[in-house]
Amino acid sequence: MLYQRSSQLFAEAEKVIPGGVNSPVRAFKSVGGTPIFVKKAKGAYLYDEDGNRLIDYINSWGPMILGHAYEPVVNAVIEKAKLGTSFGMPTEIETKIAELAVSMVPNIDKIRFVNSGTEACMSAIRLARGFTSREKIIKFKGCYHGHSDSFLISAGSGAVTFGSPNSPGVTQGTAKDTLLAIYNDLANVRAILEANKEEVAAIIVEPVAGNMGCVPPKKGFLEGLRALCDEFGALLIFDEVMTGFRLARGGAQELFKVNADLVTFGKVIGGGLPVGAFAGRAEIMNYLAPVGPVYQAGTLSGNPLAMAAGLTMLQEIEKDLELFSRLEEKTAYLEKGLRRVLEANHVDHTINRVGSMISVFFDKREVVDFDTAGYGHNDTFNKFFHGLLAEGVYIAPSSYETWFITDALTYEDLDYTINAVNKIFA
Ligand code: PMP
Repeated sequence: MLYQRSSQLFAEAEKVIPGGVNSPVRAFKSVGGTPIFVKKAKGAYLYDEDGNRLIDYINSWGPMILGHAYEPVVNAVIEKAKLGTSFGMPTEIETKIAELAVSMVPNIDKIRFVNSGTEACMSAIRLARGFTSREKIIKFKGCYHGHSDSFLISAGSGAVTFGSPNSPGVTQGTAKDTLLAIYNDLANVRAILEANKEEVAAIIVEPVAGNMGCVPPKKGFLEGLRALCDEFGALLIFDEVMTGFRLARGGAQELFKVNADLVTFGKVIGGGLPVGAFAGRAEIMNYLAPVGPVYQAGTLSGNPLAMAAGLTMLQEIEKDLELFSRLEEKTAYLEKGLRRVLEANHVDHTINRVGSMISVFFDKREVVDFDTAGYGHNDTFNKFFHGLLAEGVYIAPSSYETWFITDALTYEDLDYTINAVNKIFA
């Protein structure tokens, strides 16, 4: 495949946009080469500026659970846009999507919409701090909760891919209030809580980590966090930006049957438009302005186009009773096929998967936390990435990312992908 026009466009972009991209994970810096410029997408496929068709395993990093340019969502946005694109005033559709989200997700009474996952997580910890009158938070190494200052401490995703998990620009003052724990290690979390008694406002966690590759919670880990939060008076925040409306209708709380105090959303909840949200029990959410003292706001929050896309997406998910079992079956099929060809070609690997989140680490050791996730950051991954690209299959350009499976993928697409992997290592 040729990527001539993408290369040209990238060279032009580099002159006026830092690194040529508006979010670092889009760059090919760690795998080499130049990023692919997309012209359009439909269903499971991307069509780039050189006329190549690629099977998409990123799906806008999660939102396109039903496929690209999904017609009901596109039509809802078009119809809404005709009525005006932003008012900065209340609209009925905000209540409609809020009601639907509250009915789908366990254990939440109220939800507030923002414009990104970053804003959702940033606001959730401010609320947790205000509610508990405590300042520190615990986050896990390798988890990513957006790029707000408190979270760029041992962060995953692009922050680790590009070597800045602790970004310059974050003040010492802010950094000292973020305590770092090891994912899947309850004893470590307890020790941190013991050493910071009555100081920890919240533990924030990706209930299935997706920003150090896919790392599932060990049995009892999330339950253990719930118990520790209760014991030490901290709030438990599930960052469901990736898992929300993807692992189950009610997200990780439903799948693992563990209640969080606050949950954050992004990606699927916006149907591909810029939306985030955070939600919880009324008692906590009513701490927010204008009813409560914790300030949080947004000119474009609850934007009508974004709400139209999000509402339509959630309605589609709600009425399709087979969606999550289809996603499970398709991703399990992919997992099985990948294992088969990697084993046949004697390639050391570990595959982690929960529902439609999956990643391949090229090392045979178990991957359970940030340190072990580093095993996958190697030359075999780069060979894999470029080999797939040459075959017209697009995965994230870093081993510290997860593949997001869309329902638009057919079994032919999955077979094609499995065969492409076989070709790379044969
Ligand atoms: N939390 C998690 C778990 C994420 O994966 C991401 C983004 N990938 C964010 C927060 C931040 O969301 P956004 O990029 O929309 O700001």
